[in-house]
Amino acid sequence: MERSLQLLCRVLAAFIGTEQESGRDRKLPVALICLGGPGGCADKGLASQDLRRRPSSAAVTPPGGQSSDGLQHRVCFTMGSLGQSNISALRVDTTELAESLHESCQYGAAHRYGKLSTETGMARLSLDDSDKEVRDWFMRTAKSLGCKTFFDQMGNLFAIRPGKKENVPPIMMGSHLDTQPTGGRYDGILGVLAGLQVLKVLNENSVETEGPIGVVNWTNEEGARFPKMAVSSGVWAGAIPIETAWELREVTPHEGKPKSMKEELERIGYKGERPASFDDNPFAAHFELHIEQGPILEDEDLKIGVVEGVQAFKWFDITVRGRDSHAGTTPLYARKDTVLSAARMLVAANAVAKKHDGLSTTGIFNADPGTVNTMAHTTKFTLDLRHVRNEVLATMVKECEDEFCRIAQEDSEQGCEVEWSLLVDSPAVQFNEECIAAVEQSASDVCSTLPGASSRKLWRPMISGAGHDSCYTNLRCPTSMIFTPTRQGISHNPTEYCSAEDCALGASVLLGAVLRYDKLRLDRGDFN
Ligand SMILES: [Zn+2]
Repeated sequence: MERSLQLLCRVLAAFIGTEQESGRDRKLPVALICLGGPGGCADKGLASQDLRRRPSSAAVTPPGGQSSDGLQHRVCFTMGSLGQSNISALRVDTTELAESLHESCQYGAAHRYGKLSTETGMARLSLDDSDKEVRDWFMRTAKSLGCKTFFDQMGNLFAIRPGKKENVPPIMMGSHLDTQPTGGRYDGILGVLAGLQVLKVLNENSVETEGPIGVVNWTNEEGARFPKMAVSSGVWAGAIPIETAWELREVTPHEGKPKSMKEELERIGYKGERPASFDDNPFAAHFELHIEQGPILEDEDLKIGVVEGVQAFKWFDITVRGRDSHAGTTPLYARKDTVLSAARMLVAANAVAKKHDGLSTTGIFNADPGTVNTMAHTTKFTLDLRHVRNEVLATMVKECEDEFCRIAQEDSEQGCEVEWSLLVDSPAVQFNEECIAAVEQSASDVCSTLPGASSRKLWRPMISGAGHDSCYTNLRCPTSMIFTPTRQGISHNPTEYCSAEDCALGASVLLGAVLRYDKLRLDRGDFN
Protein backbone atom coordinates (compact mmCIF):
# COMPACT_ATOMS: atom_id res chain seq x y z
CA MET A 1 0.00 0.00 0.00
CA GLU A 2 2.71 2.42 1.01
CA ARG A 3 4.80 1.54 -2.03
CA SER A 4 1.91 2.17 -4.37
CA LEU A 5 1.35 5.50 -2.62
CA GLN A 6 4.98 6.39 -3.19
CA LEU A 7 4.71 5.42 -6.84
CA LEU A 8 1.65 7.63 -7.21
CA CYS A 9 3.57 10.47 -5.56
CA ARG A 10 6.46 10.04 -7.98
CA VAL A 11 4.11 10.11 -10.95
CA LEU A 12 2.45 13.22 -9.54
CA ALA A 13 5.82 14.83 -8.89
CA ALA A 14 6.94 14.11 -12.44
CA PHE A 15 3.72 15.62 -13.74
CA ILE A 16 4.10 18.69 -11.57
CA GLY A 17 7.67 19.08 -12.78
CA THR A 18 6.69 19.00 -16.43
CA GLU A 19 3.94 21.50 -15.83
CA GLN A 20 6.16 23.87 -13.91
CA GLU A 21 8.87 23.78 -16.53
CA SER A 22 6.58 25.45 -19.01
CA GLY A 23 6.39 28.59 -16.92
CA ARG A 24 10.04 28.94 -16.01
CA ASP A 25 12.50 31.24 -17.69
CA ARG A 26 10.40 31.48 -20.77
CA LYS A 27 10.59 34.66 -22.74
CA LEU A 28 6.99 35.55 -23.39
CA PRO A 29 5.57 37.97 -25.91
CA VAL A 30 4.04 41.31 -24.98
CA ALA A 31 1.38 40.54 -22.45
CA LEU A 32 -0.56 43.75 -22.15
CA ILE A 33 -0.91 47.01 -23.96
CA CYS A 34 -2.72 49.85 -22.26
CA LEU A 35 -3.87 52.64 -24.51
CA GLY A 36 -5.82 54.86 -22.32
CA GLY A 37 -9.40 54.46 -21.17
CA PRO A 38 -9.93 53.27 -17.62
CA GLY A 39 -10.54 49.54 -17.51
CA GLY A 40 -8.50 49.03 -20.64
CA CYS A 41 -6.17 46.79 -18.69
CA ALA A 42 -8.71 45.15 -16.47
CA ASP A 43 -9.42 41.96 -18.36
CA LYS A 44 -5.90 41.29 -19.58
CA GLY A 45 -4.20 40.49 -16.31
CA LEU A 46 -1.60 37.75 -16.34
CA ALA A 47 -2.69 34.40 -15.01
CA SER A 48 -1.38 33.35 -11.65
CA GLN A 49 0.07 29.97 -10.94
CA ASP A 50 -0.93 27.87 -8.00
CA LEU A 51 1.45 27.31 -5.17
CA ARG A 52 2.52 23.74 -5.76
CA ARG A 53 3.06 21.55 -2.79
CA ARG A 54 5.00 18.37 -3.27
CA PRO A 55 2.93 15.41 -2.12
CA SER A 56 4.16 13.79 1.01
CA SER A 57 4.52 10.02 0.94
CA ALA A 58 4.96 9.25 4.61
CA ALA A 59 5.00 10.90 7.97
CA VAL A 60 8.42 11.58 9.43
CA THR A 61 9.44 9.11 12.05
CA PRO A 62 11.70 10.66 14.66
CA PRO A 63 14.99 8.80 14.80
CA GLY A 64 14.73 6.10 17.41
CA GLY A 65 17.24 4.77 19.92
CA GLN A 66 17.03 7.16 22.83
CA SER A 67 20.03 5.60 24.58
CA SER A 68 21.98 7.99 26.74
CA ASP A 69 25.40 6.51 26.28
CA GLY A 70 26.51 9.59 24.33
CA LEU A 71 29.52 9.78 22.08
CA GLN A 72 30.59 6.70 20.20
CA HIS A 73 33.53 7.90 18.16
CA ARG A 74 35.37 5.53 15.85
CA VAL A 75 33.15 2.55 16.50
CA CYS A 76 31.52 0.79 13.62
CA PHE A 77 27.77 1.11 13.80
CA THR A 78 25.15 0.86 11.13
CA MET A 79 22.24 3.25 10.82
CA GLY A 80 20.05 0.58 12.34
CA SER A 81 21.78 1.23 15.63
CA LEU A 82 22.64 4.88 14.96
CA GLY A 83 19.94 6.47 17.05
CA GLN A 84 19.23 10.01 18.10
CA SER A 85 22.06 10.28 20.58
CA ASN A 86 24.63 8.92 18.15
CA ILE A 87 23.56 11.27 15.37
CA SER A 88 23.81 14.11 17.87
CA ALA A 89 27.38 13.14 18.71
CA LEU A 90 28.57 13.72 15.15
CA ARG A 91 29.75 17.23 14.35
CA VAL A 92 31.65 18.88 11.51
CA ASP A 93 34.91 20.36 12.80
CA THR A 94 35.08 24.16 12.59
CA THR A 95 38.78 24.44 11.73
CA GLU A 96 38.81 21.60 9.21
CA LEU A 97 35.86 23.01 7.30
CA ALA A 98 37.32 26.53 7.29
CA GLU A 99 40.72 25.29 6.12
CA SER A 100 39.33 23.20 3.30
CA LEU A 101 36.98 26.00 2.21
CA HIS A 102 39.82 28.50 1.99
CA GLU A 103 42.10 25.91 0.35
CA SER A 104 39.53 25.56 -2.44
CA CYS A 105 39.37 29.36 -2.72
CA GLN A 106 43.02 29.58 -3.80
CA TYR A 107 41.60 28.90 -7.26
CA GLY A 108 40.02 32.13 -8.44
CA ALA A 109 40.81 34.34 -5.43
CA ALA A 110 40.50 38.05 -6.35
CA HIS A 111 39.62 41.50 -5.00
CA ARG A 112 41.71 41.75 -1.84
CA TYR A 113 40.01 43.82 0.89
CA GLY A 114 42.11 43.02 3.99
CA LYS A 115 45.53 41.86 5.12
CA LEU A 116 44.68 38.24 6.01
CA SER A 117 45.22 35.63 3.32
CA THR A 118 41.51 34.80 3.45
CA GLU A 119 40.44 38.42 3.07
CA THR A 120 39.81 38.34 -0.65
CA GLY A 121 36.76 37.82 -2.73
CA MET A 122 36.44 35.45 -5.69
CA ALA A 123 36.28 35.68 -9.48
CA ARG A 124 35.80 32.04 -10.43
CA LEU A 125 33.62 32.16 -13.48
CA SER A 126 32.02 28.96 -14.64
CA LEU A 127 34.29 26.80 -16.86
CA ASP A 128 37.22 29.23 -16.80
CA ASP A 129 40.74 28.07 -15.89
CA SER A 130 40.27 28.59 -12.15
CA ASP A 131 36.99 26.64 -12.29
CA LYS A 132 38.87 23.77 -13.97
CA GLU A 133 41.47 23.88 -11.17
CA VAL A 134 38.89 23.76 -8.39
CA ARG A 135 37.07 20.94 -10.20
CA ASP A 136 40.31 18.94 -10.33
CA TRP A 137 40.76 19.70 -6.62
CA PHE A 138 37.18 18.55 -5.86
CA MET A 139 37.65 15.26 -7.73
CA ARG A 140 41.01 14.58 -6.01
CA THR A 141 39.54 15.34 -2.58
CA ALA A 142 36.45 13.20 -3.17
CA LYS A 143 38.59 10.26 -4.36
CA SER A 144 40.79 10.59 -1.27
CA LEU A 145 37.59 10.19 0.77
CA GLY A 146 36.89 6.90 -0.99
CA CYS A 147 34.11 8.24 -3.19
CA LYS A 148 33.12 7.12 -6.63
CA THR A 149 33.39 10.21 -8.86
CA PHE A 150 32.00 11.07 -12.27
CA PHE A 151 30.65 14.02 -14.27
CA ASP A 152 27.85 14.39 -16.79
CA GLN A 153 27.36 16.14 -20.12
CA MET A 154 26.88 19.51 -18.36
CA GLY A 155 30.04 19.06 -16.30
CA ASN A 156 28.07 18.56 -13.08
CA LEU A 157 30.44 16.77 -10.68
CA PHE A 158 29.28 13.88 -8.51
CA ALA A 159 31.06 12.19 -5.59
CA ILE A 160 29.27 9.22 -4.05
CA ARG A 161 30.12 7.47 -0.78
CA PRO A 162 28.65 3.95 -0.84
CA GLY A 163 26.07 2.78 1.68
CA LYS A 164 24.99 -0.70 2.76
CA LYS A 165 22.59 -0.97 -0.14
CA GLU A 166 23.97 -0.88 -3.63
CA ASN A 167 22.13 0.25 -6.74
CA VAL A 168 19.78 2.63 -4.94
CA PRO A 169 19.72 6.40 -5.57
CA PRO A 170 21.97 8.43 -3.24
CA ILE A 171 20.99 11.28 -0.94
CA MET A 172 22.88 14.24 -2.41
CA MET A 173 24.27 17.38 -0.79
CA GLY A 174 24.72 19.98 -3.48
CA SER A 175 25.54 23.55 -4.38
CA HIS A 176 28.00 25.30 -6.72
CA LEU A 177 31.68 26.24 -6.91
CA ASP A 178 31.34 29.01 -9.53
CA THR A 179 31.08 32.63 -8.38
CA GLN A 180 30.14 36.08 -9.59
CA PRO A 181 32.99 38.12 -11.18
CA THR A 182 33.09 40.14 -7.94
CA GLY A 183 31.87 37.34 -5.69
CA GLY A 184 32.71 36.10 -2.20
CA ARG A 185 34.07 32.91 -0.60
CA TYR A 186 30.80 31.44 0.66
CA ASP A 187 27.96 31.66 -1.87
CA GLY A 188 27.66 28.08 -3.17
CA ILE A 189 31.17 27.15 -2.07
CA LEU A 190 30.07 26.53 1.53
CA GLY A 191 27.42 24.00 0.43
CA VAL A 192 29.87 21.90 -1.61
CA LEU A 193 32.71 22.03 0.92
CA ALA A 194 30.35 21.24 3.80
CA GLY A 195 29.18 18.19 1.83
CA LEU A 196 32.75 16.90 1.53
CA GLN A 197 33.31 17.48 5.25
CA VAL A 198 30.15 15.53 6.08
CA LEU A 199 31.55 12.55 4.14
CA LYS A 200 34.84 12.93 6.05
CA VAL A 201 33.02 12.82 9.40
CA LEU A 202 31.17 9.68 8.31
CA ASN A 203 34.49 8.07 7.32
CA GLU A 204 36.27 9.03 10.52
CA ASN A 205 33.45 7.61 12.61
CA SER A 206 33.06 4.51 10.45
CA VAL A 207 29.40 5.26 9.92
CA GLU A 208 27.78 2.93 7.44
CA THR A 209 24.67 4.56 6.04
CA GLU A 210 21.82 2.52 4.58
CA GLY A 211 21.89 4.18 1.15
CA PRO A 212 24.74 6.03 -0.55
CA ILE A 213 25.42 9.68 0.36
CA GLY A 214 27.01 12.07 -2.12
CA VAL A 215 28.02 15.60 -3.06
CA VAL A 216 27.21 17.43 -6.29
CA ASN A 217 28.78 20.57 -7.75
CA TRP A 218 26.33 22.12 -10.22
CA THR A 219 27.81 23.95 -13.24
CA ASN A 220 27.15 27.68 -13.82
CA GLU A 221 24.62 28.20 -11.01
CA GLU A 222 25.39 31.91 -10.92
CA GLY A 223 24.48 32.50 -14.55
CA ALA A 224 27.20 35.15 -14.44
CA ARG A 225 29.34 33.91 -17.34
CA PHE A 226 26.66 32.00 -19.29
CA PRO A 227 23.43 33.94 -18.81
CA LYS A 228 21.04 31.35 -17.43
CA MET A 229 20.86 30.83 -13.70
CA ALA A 230 21.10 27.28 -12.32
CA VAL A 231 21.17 26.07 -15.91
CA SER A 232 22.81 22.71 -15.28
CA SER A 233 20.51 21.58 -12.47
CA GLY A 234 17.78 22.78 -14.85
CA VAL A 235 19.05 20.41 -17.55
CA TRP A 236 19.33 17.57 -15.00
CA ALA A 237 15.69 18.22 -14.00
CA GLY A 238 14.54 18.17 -17.63
CA ALA A 239 13.38 21.78 -17.42
CA ILE A 240 16.00 23.17 -19.86
CA PRO A 241 16.96 21.38 -23.11
CA ILE A 242 20.66 20.51 -23.17
CA GLU A 243 21.12 22.11 -26.60
CA THR A 244 19.83 25.42 -25.19
CA ALA A 245 22.34 25.17 -22.35
CA TRP A 246 25.27 24.11 -24.53
CA GLU A 247 24.62 27.03 -26.90
CA LEU A 248 24.66 29.71 -24.18
CA ARG A 249 27.42 32.20 -24.97
CA GLU A 250 29.61 33.99 -22.42
CA VAL A 251 28.56 37.53 -21.51
CA THR A 252 31.50 38.50 -19.29
CA PRO A 253 34.50 40.29 -20.90
CA HIS A 254 36.40 37.97 -23.25
CA GLU A 255 38.67 37.98 -26.27
CA GLY A 256 37.33 37.19 -29.74
CA LYS A 257 34.01 35.52 -30.41
CA PRO A 258 32.08 34.67 -27.26
CA LYS A 259 32.54 30.99 -26.40
CA SER A 260 29.66 28.61 -25.84
CA MET A 261 29.19 26.44 -22.76
CA LYS A 262 29.77 23.34 -24.87
CA GLU A 263 33.07 24.68 -26.23
CA GLU A 264 34.27 25.56 -22.75
CA LEU A 265 33.16 22.22 -21.26
CA GLU A 266 35.21 20.50 -23.98
CA ARG A 267 38.19 22.82 -23.55
CA ILE A 268 38.59 22.14 -19.82
CA GLY A 269 37.82 18.42 -20.18
CA TYR A 270 34.57 18.34 -18.20
CA LYS A 271 32.02 17.46 -20.87
CA GLY A 272 31.13 13.96 -19.73
CA GLU A 273 29.48 11.14 -21.62
CA ARG A 274 26.78 10.51 -19.07
CA PRO A 275 23.43 12.23 -19.74
CA ALA A 276 22.69 15.18 -17.45
CA SER A 277 19.36 13.77 -16.37
CA PHE A 278 17.41 12.73 -13.29
CA ASP A 279 16.38 9.65 -15.28
CA ASP A 280 19.92 8.45 -15.80
CA ASN A 281 21.23 9.74 -12.47
CA PRO A 282 18.35 9.87 -9.94
CA PHE A 283 18.65 11.19 -6.38
CA ALA A 284 16.80 9.98 -3.27
CA ALA A 285 16.90 13.56 -1.96
CA HIS A 286 18.84 16.83 -2.33
CA PHE A 287 19.93 18.98 0.62
CA GLU A 288 21.62 22.34 0.04
CA LEU A 289 23.46 24.35 2.67
CA HIS A 290 23.82 28.00 1.63
CA ILE A 291 24.52 31.37 3.17
CA GLU A 292 21.30 33.34 3.64
CA GLN A 293 22.51 36.27 1.50
CA GLY A 294 20.20 38.52 3.49
CA PRO A 295 20.22 40.12 6.96
CA ILE A 296 17.38 38.33 8.76
CA LEU A 297 19.31 35.67 10.74
CA GLU A 298 21.94 38.19 11.81
CA ASP A 299 19.35 40.83 12.72
CA GLU A 300 17.44 38.32 14.86
CA ASP A 301 20.64 36.87 16.35
CA LEU A 302 19.78 33.39 15.06
CA LYS A 303 22.08 30.65 13.78
CA ILE A 304 20.14 28.53 11.29
CA GLY A 305 17.38 29.10 8.74
CA VAL A 306 15.22 26.07 7.97
CA VAL A 307 14.24 26.93 4.41
CA GLU A 308 10.73 25.86 3.49
CA GLY A 309 10.57 27.25 -0.02
CA VAL A 310 11.45 30.02 -2.43
CA GLN A 311 9.30 33.05 -3.12
CA ALA A 312 7.60 33.59 -6.47
CA PHE A 313 8.81 36.31 -8.81
CA LYS A 314 7.95 37.85 -12.16
CA TRP A 315 10.19 40.10 -14.25
CA PHE A 316 8.77 42.59 -16.73
CA ASP A 317 10.05 45.04 -19.30
CA ILE A 318 7.79 48.09 -19.14
CA THR A 319 7.73 50.55 -22.06
CA VAL A 320 6.04 53.94 -21.71
CA ARG A 321 5.48 55.79 -24.98
CA GLY A 322 4.57 59.47 -25.19
CA ARG A 323 5.80 62.42 -27.25
CA ASP A 324 9.06 64.34 -27.32
CA SER A 325 8.61 68.08 -27.34
CA HIS A 326 10.37 71.26 -26.26
CA ALA A 327 10.79 71.76 -22.50
CA GLY A 328 10.41 75.53 -22.72
CA THR A 329 7.49 75.86 -25.09
CA THR A 330 5.23 72.94 -24.15
CA PRO A 331 2.86 73.81 -21.27
CA LEU A 332 2.40 71.07 -18.64
CA TYR A 333 -1.18 70.39 -19.78
CA ALA A 334 -0.02 69.62 -23.31
CA ARG A 335 2.65 67.08 -22.54
CA LYS A 336 3.00 63.31 -22.90
CA ASP A 337 5.92 63.09 -20.52
CA THR A 338 7.12 59.48 -20.28
CA VAL A 339 9.86 60.01 -17.68
CA LEU A 340 7.49 61.64 -15.22
CA SER A 341 4.93 58.95 -15.96
CA ALA A 342 7.42 56.09 -15.44
CA ALA A 343 8.79 57.68 -12.25
CA ARG A 344 5.31 57.82 -10.76
CA MET A 345 4.77 54.18 -11.80
CA LEU A 346 7.83 53.12 -9.78
CA VAL A 347 6.47 54.89 -6.73
CA ALA A 348 3.09 53.21 -7.26
CA ALA A 349 4.68 49.74 -7.61
CA ASN A 350 6.60 50.34 -4.40
CA ALA A 351 3.35 51.22 -2.60
CA VAL A 352 1.66 48.07 -3.95
CA ALA A 353 4.59 45.93 -2.74
CA LYS A 354 4.49 47.54 0.72
CA LYS A 355 0.76 47.02 1.01
CA HIS A 356 1.09 43.28 0.33
CA ASP A 357 4.35 42.72 2.20
CA GLY A 358 6.06 41.87 -1.09
CA LEU A 359 8.97 43.35 -3.03
CA SER A 360 9.21 45.64 -6.04
CA THR A 361 12.50 46.54 -7.74
CA THR A 362 13.53 48.53 -10.79
CA GLY A 363 17.17 48.01 -11.78
CA ILE A 364 17.20 49.38 -15.31
CA PHE A 365 15.68 52.72 -16.39
CA ASN A 366 16.34 54.35 -19.78
CA ALA A 367 14.84 57.37 -21.56
CA ASP A 368 14.96 58.37 -25.27
CA PRO A 369 16.15 60.57 -26.85
CA GLY A 370 17.86 61.76 -23.67
CA THR A 371 18.51 65.48 -23.85
CA VAL A 372 18.20 68.12 -21.14
CA ASN A 373 15.53 70.29 -22.73
CA THR A 374 13.28 67.70 -24.39
CA MET A 375 10.73 65.37 -22.89
CA ALA A 376 11.53 61.73 -23.65
CA HIS A 377 9.19 60.10 -26.18
CA THR A 378 9.98 56.63 -24.79
CA THR A 379 10.97 55.42 -21.34
CA LYS A 380 11.75 51.79 -20.61
CA PHE A 381 12.26 50.20 -17.23
CA THR A 382 12.39 46.75 -15.68
CA LEU A 383 10.06 45.66 -12.91
CA ASP A 384 10.85 42.72 -10.59
CA LEU A 385 7.88 41.81 -8.35
CA ARG A 386 8.14 39.13 -5.64
CA HIS A 387 5.97 37.48 -3.04
CA VAL A 388 6.01 34.20 -1.17
CA ARG A 389 2.51 33.35 -2.43
CA ASN A 390 1.64 33.06 -6.11
CA GLU A 391 -1.89 34.39 -5.69
CA VAL A 392 -0.70 37.52 -3.86
CA LEU A 393 1.94 38.10 -6.52
CA ALA A 394 -0.82 37.90 -9.15
CA THR A 395 -2.79 40.52 -7.19
CA MET A 396 0.28 42.75 -7.02
CA VAL A 397 0.71 42.51 -10.80
CA LYS A 398 -2.97 43.34 -11.35
CA GLU A 399 -2.82 46.35 -9.02
CA CYS A 400 0.32 47.63 -10.75
CA GLU A 401 -1.39 47.27 -14.13
CA ASP A 402 -4.35 49.31 -12.90
CA GLU A 403 -2.16 51.95 -11.26
CA PHE A 404 0.05 52.32 -14.34
CA CYS A 405 -3.03 52.76 -16.54
CA ARG A 406 -4.40 55.41 -14.19
CA ILE A 407 -1.10 57.29 -14.06
CA ALA A 408 -0.85 57.29 -17.86
CA GLN A 409 -4.13 59.25 -17.96
CA GLU A 410 -3.32 62.00 -15.51
CA ASP A 411 -1.90 65.50 -15.69
CA SER A 412 1.09 65.96 -17.93
CA GLU A 413 1.33 62.23 -18.59
CA GLN A 414 -2.09 62.02 -20.24
CA GLY A 415 -2.21 59.90 -23.35
CA CYS A 416 0.93 57.92 -22.61
CA GLU A 417 0.84 54.28 -23.62
CA VAL A 418 2.06 51.50 -21.33
CA GLU A 419 3.29 48.19 -22.68
CA TRP A 420 4.13 45.20 -20.48
CA SER A 421 6.42 42.37 -21.55
CA LEU A 422 6.86 39.34 -19.28
CA LEU A 423 10.50 38.23 -19.15
CA VAL A 424 10.54 35.61 -16.39
CA ASP A 425 7.76 33.89 -14.48
CA SER A 426 9.03 31.80 -11.60
CA PRO A 427 6.28 30.37 -9.36
CA ALA A 428 6.79 29.88 -5.64
CA VAL A 429 8.66 26.73 -4.67
CA GLN A 430 7.56 24.59 -1.74
CA PHE A 431 10.21 22.20 -0.52
CA ASN A 432 9.52 18.62 0.58
CA GLU A 433 7.95 18.31 4.03
CA GLU A 434 10.01 15.31 5.06
CA CYS A 435 13.27 17.01 4.09
CA ILE A 436 12.18 20.15 5.97
CA ALA A 437 11.37 18.03 9.02
CA ALA A 438 14.79 16.33 8.86
CA VAL A 439 16.50 19.76 8.72
CA GLU A 440 14.30 21.11 11.50
CA GLN A 441 15.07 18.21 13.85
CA SER A 442 18.75 18.50 13.06
CA ALA A 443 18.77 22.29 13.59
CA SER A 444 16.95 21.92 16.88
CA ASP A 445 19.44 19.28 18.00
CA VAL A 446 22.61 21.12 16.87
CA CYS A 447 21.47 24.48 18.26
CA SER A 448 20.43 23.00 21.60
CA THR A 449 24.01 22.91 22.86
CA LEU A 450 24.78 26.56 22.03
CA PRO A 451 24.96 29.33 24.63
CA GLY A 452 21.56 30.99 24.91
CA ALA A 453 19.71 27.92 23.64
CA SER A 454 18.01 27.32 26.98
CA SER A 455 16.11 30.60 26.85
CA ARG A 456 15.16 30.74 23.16
CA LYS A 457 15.14 28.89 19.85
CA LEU A 458 18.21 29.73 17.73
CA TRP A 459 16.76 28.69 14.38
CA ARG A 460 13.69 29.72 12.43
CA PRO A 461 11.74 28.68 9.34
CA MET A 462 12.45 30.88 6.33
CA ILE A 463 11.53 31.44 2.70
CA SER A 464 14.42 32.05 0.32
CA GLY A 465 14.41 35.37 -1.51
CA ALA A 466 16.74 34.09 -4.24
CA GLY A 467 16.62 31.14 -6.61
CA HIS A 468 18.98 28.15 -6.17
CA ASP A 469 19.79 24.79 -7.80
CA SER A 470 17.42 23.31 -5.23
CA CYS A 471 14.48 24.91 -7.07
CA TYR A 472 15.22 22.57 -9.98
CA THR A 473 16.08 19.45 -7.96
CA ASN A 474 12.79 19.99 -6.10
CA LEU A 475 11.02 19.17 -9.38
CA ARG A 476 12.50 15.68 -9.40
CA CYS A 477 13.36 14.61 -5.86
CA PRO A 478 12.57 15.56 -2.25
CA THR A 479 14.58 18.72 -1.55
CA SER A 480 15.18 21.36 1.10
CA MET A 481 17.76 23.94 2.15
CA ILE A 482 19.60 25.22 5.21
CA PHE A 483 20.69 28.86 5.64
CA THR A 484 23.55 30.28 7.71
CA PRO A 485 23.93 33.93 8.81
CA THR A 486 25.61 36.34 6.39
CA ARG A 487 27.46 39.36 7.74
CA GLN A 488 25.29 42.45 7.15
CA GLY A 489 23.34 40.39 4.63
CA ILE A 490 25.98 41.20 2.00
CA SER A 491 26.48 38.70 -0.84
CA HIS A 492 27.71 38.80 -4.47
CA ASN A 493 30.46 41.01 -3.07
CA PRO A 494 34.12 40.22 -2.18
CA THR A 495 33.49 40.99 1.51
CA GLU A 496 30.72 38.37 1.78
CA TYR A 497 31.33 36.55 5.09
CA CYS A 498 30.00 33.80 7.32
CA SER A 499 32.07 33.00 10.42
CA ALA A 500 33.90 29.66 10.61
CA GLU A 501 31.72 28.73 13.60
CA ASP A 502 28.50 29.46 11.75
CA CYS A 503 29.71 27.58 8.66
CA ALA A 504 30.47 24.49 10.78
CA LEU A 505 27.14 24.78 12.58
CA GLY A 506 25.35 24.78 9.23
CA ALA A 507 27.44 21.81 8.06
CA SER A 508 26.56 19.89 11.23
CA VAL A 509 22.87 20.57 10.59
CA LEU A 510 23.39 19.25 7.05
CA LEU A 511 25.06 16.12 8.45
CA GLY A 512 22.21 15.49 10.91
CA ALA A 513 19.55 16.08 8.24
CA VAL A 514 21.14 13.63 5.81
CA LEU A 515 21.49 10.91 8.46
CA ARG A 516 17.89 11.42 9.59
CA TYR A 517 16.65 11.15 6.02
CA ASP A 518 18.72 7.99 5.48
CA LYS A 519 17.07 6.52 8.58
CA LEU A 520 13.66 7.58 7.27
CA ARG A 521 14.31 5.68 4.03
CA LEU A 522 15.01 2.54 6.03
CA ASP A 523 12.01 2.99 8.32
CA ARG A 524 9.54 3.46 5.50
CA GLY A 525 10.88 0.51 3.53
CA ASP A 526 12.57 2.25 0.59
CA PHE A 527 15.12 -0.53 0.42
CA ASN A 528 12.72 -3.49 0.68
ZN1 LIG B 1 24.56 30.39 -4.59
